Order: sequence, then structure tokens, then C-alpha cells
Amino acid sequence: MRIPGLSDGALVTDPDVLAGYSRDRDPWSPAGTPSALVRAAGRDDVVAVMNWAAAHRVPLVPRGAGSGLAGAANAIDGCVVLSLERMRAIREIDDADLVAVVEPGVVNADLKRAAAATGLFYAPDPGSFEFCTIGGNVATNAGGLCCVKYGVTRDAVLGLEVVLADGRVLRTGGRTVKDVAGLDLTRLFVGSEGMLGVVTEVTLRLLPARPAPGTLVATFDDLVCAGDAVSRVVASGRPSMCELMDDVTIAAVEAFRPMGLDPSARALLLIQSDAGPGACDLECEQFSAACEKAGATFVMATQDRAEGELLTAARRMAVSALEAQGGWVLDDVGVPLSRMADLVAACGAVGERHGVQVATFGHAGDGNMHPTIVFDQDDPGARDRARAAFDAIVDAALQLGGTITGEHGVGLMKRRHLVRQVGEVHLDVQRAVKEALDPLGILNPGKSLG
Ligand SMILES: Cc1cc2nc3c(=O)[nH]c(=O)nc-3n(C[C@H](O)[C@H](O)[C@H](O)COP(=O)(O)OP(=O)(O)OC[C@H]3O[C@@H](n4cnc5c(N)ncnc54)[C@H](O)[C@@H]3O)c2cc1C
Repeated sequence: MRIPGLSDGALVTDPDVLAGYSRDRDPWSPAGTPSALVRAAGRDDVVAVMNWAAAHRVPLVPRGAGSGLAGAANAIDGCVVLSLERMRAIREIDDADLVAVVEPGVVNADLKRAAAATGLFYAPDPGSFEFCTIGGNVATNAGGLCCVKYGVTRDAVLGLEVVLADGRVLRTGGRTVKDVAGLDLTRLFVGSEGMLGVVTEVTLRLLPARPAPGTLVATFDDLVCAGDAVSRVVASGRPSMCELMDDVTIAAVEAFRPMGLDPSARALLLIQSDAGPGACDLECEQFSAACEKAGATFVMATQDRAEGELLTAARRMAVSALEAQGGWVLDDVGVPLSRMADLVAACGAVGERHGVQVATFGHAGDGNMHPTIVFDQDDPGARDRARAAFDAIVDAALQLGGTITGEHGVGLMKRRHLVRQVGEVHLDVQRAVKEALDPLGILNPGKSLG
């Protein structure tokens, strides 16, 4: 195989290497066998492979770190996987305009560290921030732990450079705070899961460094009370984090790496305030009162930064800890804040009805939970029961006026559910946009829209 115009070493056809690039972290969705991998060194490589793919009608699957949980980066038989992981230059951190300009392969945490070195703060922080890429974050509109106060990736993206399916290079947005010149194409590409174009540069909004957060832990002997506490907490102030873990998740984390979490609690809320000196204490008191009103059995606040970071690390470990349990499938649903208690109750009921264990944890302050079904892989019926429970949780979210995916995206995982949420007209419009930008259907086909 030869792809004209590629830089030396960009093209890889070794099947052993290709295997490592054929799927993301979703253990459930199918993955095909790619015919080649292109590890782009820069935009010119992306343009070269795009032109070649269009000329030969070969599907192209863009890929960041492959940490996605919806199968969106999974290979299709015969495709070329286009990895952006080598494009990891931080081109600019501008402390006057408060922007960063980066290549798509920059790891989220590396950007955070570079911004912090200049006294600035890059907010979006998915649990995977130490290894996921900015390009993947843009393409999935990734959320995270501090989104409850600072918004999701969409809120941080000011402009993009995108290589279109016909090889042309599109620039959207810029570095101004306000910009209403024409349709908002930046937002169109955010969350488009590699189906509309390949992101080759991102201009991001930075914020002034934030004060050190205070941390509050509240435990509950009833999961529904914890869900109720979440609604009360977000109505009482502006937490910079509000995460929930149930007992199954706590036990999995403790088994994975002992972190000193209370194994007897039915649920735990981890809340932070970064309102600054004085205001932080006041806000923590308000959050304590909200938790107590909802029936918390224990509430503890700490201003100790190291302790807060340890507790946050325990929460970030949830996905890997559940992954280590054996069979697992992670859901990602969102509901209006007032329905949080109903959602966690529904997750419990689904577990009982289908005879599976559901670990309920997630970004509770955003109404975005990741109920995870843990099952015995050696039990032949367990996989089917897990699948049924997964679908039942999606049903419950829709019945509560929620969404089939809060932040992980549709990918392959939720493709069959999309029409149930958005309806045929919405789907028709989405398909028309796809057709206009990718008439040959070469960009990540089969994902999301089918
Ligand atoms: C332990 C763990 C914790 C996680 N926590 C969170 C969380 O808190 N919040 C959250 O939102 N997600 C979370 N995730 C999911 C995942 O990390 C995010 O979806 C992340 O944004 C994916 O980034 P990536 O670089 O790995 O992208 P990939 O998985 O490689 O790709 C994801 C999608 O983006 C497309 N894509 C990638 N790069 C480009 C590009 N340059 N141009 C166009 N399309 C592109 C791919 O085609 C695919 O559709 C977690 C995952 C793990 C394993």
C-alpha cells in the first residue's frame, strides 16, 4: 500500500500494531480489522490520507488516545485508522487573550499543566484526563468532574481547524470572546465523533487560575437520599465538583487500590467548592446543610488540598476499578437535576429486575450518571442480562426526560437508541449535514447515525 504525500514513517501496516489501534475502551461494541494505520505528524499528512481515502472510497476512522467508551473510534473492516496522537504541540498559551492553541493529540492533562505554569486554568477534566486527547475531547464534547461549574468541552472551544472529507481545510471561530459571524460551525464539529471532518488544531478558552478547593464528603445509608442531596446541593451554591459513588463502586475502588473510603456507606457524595478564601467555607457549610437535610449519616469538610486530591483520585479510579472486576458494561445517561433521586432508584430497580449488579456513580451535579453493570463472564446468561439491564437504564433515563448519553457519545454503543431520543426529523437533518460534508460517506461510517 502507498499513500502519496505522507511523511516518512506515518504509514503502518504491521497487523500486530494495527490490532492495538482497532478499538477503544468500550468492551462491548464490535471492531473490524483495519487495512492500515496512519500516524499523522501534521496537517499535511491528514490532507494526504483524506485525499487518498476519497479517491479510493476507503473509510477513515479518526482516533485520539482510544479512551472512548462508546466504540466511536472502533475500526471498520478495511478502513484506515488515522491516529492524531503524534500531533501534540501546544502552539501557544496566550495570557493576554486567555487562549491556548493546540494540536489535537495534546493530552488533556499536559494542557492543564502548561496553562497552570502560566497562572491559567484549562477547565474540562474528564476522568481520563491523564491520557485522553484534546481532539478526542472535542469530537466527543467530553465532560468531566468540574463541568458542574465550568461547563463541558463545547464551552471551552473558541475555534477549530478541520480537514474536510474532500481534503479542503476549514477554519472556524477564532480567539475573540464574542463572534456571531455566520452559522456556528465550531459547535457543529464539537461532538461530531469524527463523522464530519478531522480536527487538526483547536483554539481553547483559558481561565485565571482558580483558588484551591475545599472538599466535603457526605455518606448516606440510602442511595435515593444521596440523589435527593445532589438536587439540594446544586440549588444551594455553585459546587466545582459533585460526584456520587454507590457501595458497589466504593467496594470496587477499595479492592483495586485501598483509598480509605467507608465500605459500610450505601452511597458517598464528593463535593468541592473553589469559591475562594472565606466564601469556600461558607459554601461548604451550605452543602453540608443540604446533605444533612437529605439524610446524610456523616458529613466531613476539609480544606486540606492533599486530602481533597486523594478523594478525587479515588473517584477517578471508578472506571478502571470496575473494569478490573471482570465482565462490565458502562452506561452514560443524563436526567434533569430534579430527577436524580428517581434515576438512582431506577438503577437499583433495574439491577433487581434483571438479576445483575449495577454500580451507580458519576457526575451527579450534572445529572449525568454512569450506571455500570458488573457481571460474571463465565455465566453464559449473564451477558444477555447485562445487555437487557443496560437498555433498561437507557429507557429509564428517557422516561425521566433525560438523554441516552451525557458525555461519552453515541458511537456504536447507543446508535440504535438515538432515534428514540431525537426523533426522525432530527435524524434526517443530521443525515443531511453528514451528506453535505461527507457525500462519499468515508468519515467514520456506521457510527452514531448509522
Ligand atoms: C477511565 C476513564 C474515564 C473517563 N472519564 C470520562 C469523563 O469523565 N468524561 C467524559 O466525557 N469521558 C470520559 N471518558 C471517555 C473518554 O476518555 C472521552 O470520550 C475522551 O474525550 C476520548 O478522547 P480520546 O482522545 O481517547 O478519543 P478517542 O477515543 O480516540 O476517539 C473518540 C471519538 O473522537 C473521534 N476523534 C478523535 N480525535 C479526533 C480528531 N482529531 N478529529 C476528529 N475526530 C476525532 C474518534 O473518531 C471517535 O469518534 C473516560 C474514559 C476512561 C477510560
